[in-house]
Amino acid sequence: MDFTEKKTKIIATLGPVSESPAMVRDLIRAGVNVFRLNFSHKSGSEASGVIDTIRAAREELGAPVAILADIKGPAIRMYGYQSPIPIEEGTILTIESRQAEGIEDLVSPDPLRVYTNLPRIDSLVEVGQRVLLMDGYFAGAVSALGQGSLEVRIGNPGKLRPKAHLTLPGVDYPIPFLSDKDVRDISYAVEKEVEFIALSFVREATDIEEVRRLVKRSRTASGAEPRSLLIAKIESAKGLANIEEIVKAADGIMVARGDMGVEISVETVPLAQKRIIRIGYLASKPVITATQMLESMIESPMPTRAEASDVANACFDSTSAVMLSGETAIGRFPLQTVETMSRIVRMVEAEFGYEAFHETMPHSTRSGDLPDIVSYNALSTAYQCGAKALAVLTETGSAARLLSRLRPRMPIFAFTRDRVVYNQLSMNWGVHPVFVPKPYERLDEAVAIMMDSFRADAGLVKGDRVVIVAGLPLSTHGSTNMIRVETL
Ligand code: PEP
Repeated sequence: MDFTEKKTKIIATLGPVSESPAMVRDLIRAGVNVFRLNFSHKSGSEASGVIDTIRAAREELGAPVAILADIKGPAIRMYGYQSPIPIEEGTILTIESRQAEGIEDLVSPDPLRVYTNLPRIDSLVEVGQRVLLMDGYFAGAVSALGQGSLEVRIGNPGKLRPKAHLTLPGVDYPIPFLSDKDVRDISYAVEKEVEFIALSFVREATDIEEVRRLVKRSRTASGAEPRSLLIAKIESAKGLANIEEIVKAADGIMVARGDMGVEISVETVPLAQKRIIRIGYLASKPVITATQMLESMIESPMPTRAEASDVANACFDSTSAVMLSGETAIGRFPLQTVETMSRIVRMVEAEFGYEAFHETMPHSTRSGDLPDIVSYNALSTAYQCGAKALAVLTETGSAARLLSRLRPRMPIFAFTRDRVVYNQLSMNWGVHPVFVPKPYERLDEAVAIMMDSFRADAGLVKGDRVVIVAGLPLSTHGSTNMIRVETL
């Protein structure tokens, strides 16, 4: 039990520079709580070894760590060319809709005619529509419409890489939410019993519900019931417009700033980030702030000052987790990046206005159902009696998440008998999962186990107070109804 652990969780994407067992262990020691596997660049079989490496590392270090499988989703790309296309200012590029099956291997006879998996492209836009290529590197506008194709006049020079992203800002793409590869990848993630599955370009709650049904139908390797939690990545105008219903349907949210910056607009990102984080924590769901957080550390041992401020500001926004992508997957300094991020996060945590955050929570968070009321008042009690820790007995993790949303100053030790919950809670702000190997039947036995753990730890001394939150009868889901103050 570590009273000095940081509260904001760090997610690191694994890739060629970080997948060795030694590096995975070092990254956990440096502060990584969740490892992300990016299925845009991986197949199931490629992920298998890394999943085993993470499992071995977390067991060896005795640390709760979660695995997040990030599914590619309905990405729109350009095909038909195998090497970069040189583009001048004013180049006219024709983009033609083609059936998606086998599109990756097609070669266009005209070097300035490319293909896209977006169907009926000419029916989706009008002349003048803004077009972004390669994640916004190229900007242009539609200059003419053809039969199943359009022409784009590109405004800046460069080299268009094969399989580059195509973005038509504001357009609702008529493609299914899940491709065949996505269905295979989700089934594989469930089979491997990963703790989280992140879904790209979620547009509405029904996208989540579709995946939830797929997860339920899938089989796990151990034969246990599938329990992977679903994270909705918000990165399109439609996803942002439907944020409230998506947060209700999902188990967590990601502010996917990379695609959001091109799909909507770059100036939308800061306010959308604040809004999504708030909606997320008010619903007791973890929110991840992602992309380009310490991007310059891909090449440099030190981030830009703007990046350091970005990480800090996401923490001041009360994000649950901050995420690293290329920095830890392909960068030159993966370990230094995580160490730098941990230091920035800790700096904010020393200054954060915890009590003010609790006091200014909207009235709805203190007057909803009983678990809402009890968790809110447990923290009030903890502040009033100067408690050094919150201890929660949790079967599903939900009582720990209710405390986490209040962003308490003291650590939340979440005692659970469930290994899956133990690792899943590593995503939640301020929660330190503690695995309880001993069986218990009655509340006094459970309290004794918790207090023994505190006594055995150097973090607390005689006279220190702990506020315990639990649900009675024990083992009943969603029954948080008890606050008890124990003094060591
Ligand atoms: C993003 O767009 O910010 C993001 C996290 O998604 P991906 O990196 O998978 O495109």
